Amino acid sequence: MRHNLDAPFVLVATGNRGKQQEYRELLVPLALALRFPQEMGMSPEVEESGATYAQNAALKAKAWAEAAGVLVLADDSGLEVEALGGAPGLYSARYAPFPNATDADRRRYLLANLEGKPRPWKARFVCAIAVATPAGMLHFAEGHCEGEIVPEERGEHGFGYDPIFWLPELGLTMAELPPEEKNRRSHRARAAAAILPVLEALLRG
Ligand code: IMP
Repeated sequence: MRHNLDAPFVLVATGNRGKQQEYRELLVPLALALRFPQEMGMSPEVEESGATYAQNAALKAKAWAEAAGVLVLADDSGLEVEALGGAPGLYSARYAPFPNATDADRRRYLLANLEGKPRPWKARFVCAIAVATPAGMLHFAEGHCEGEIVPEERGEHGFGYDPIFWLPELGLTMAELPPEEKNRRSHRARAAAAILPVLEALLRG
């Protein structure tokens, strides 16, 4: 499908299909087209070398805004497990001792590292959003979601660590929630809700 890249849009600079699908829903109030990296015909090199989620999100947002000259939203997120001293944290996407690991490999590796540690395994998801304007201005928002890691996978929705992230108040894993329910309470939903007014103001000019 060809897109009219002259029409106004926000580039959501993530290649993660799970995140892309969530932003399609979360940014509906903007009433503006979204574009994704695979539609842009370019892929700037971005090294996620920041010391925080916000710094990594800013590196991604700035690189894309400079390369494409458009308004960009970037997301850096992760899972922090108390019993593992906050790991995998910033390294959530790379958390496995071998190359080409899948989400399922990372979940298994996380559970292996938790074996023998007393439960509950308290955890939280963190999402930092950075918005970069073509002129190089940056705006930030962050959202958190508290829960526990459980040893058996449950649920078919979501992505990443969702099947082992349990929400005590619902008695369900994140992967058992229908997408619209995850999008009401997730770390990403909270960060998106905080950045929406900023995007609206930027678009109003
Ligand atoms: P990054 O933000 O692309 O560096 O990677 C974030 C990693 O954290 C993803 O690859 C997932 O493994 C995990 N993650 C982030 N958000 C979620 C979520 O909403 N559900 C499950 N896993 C997530």
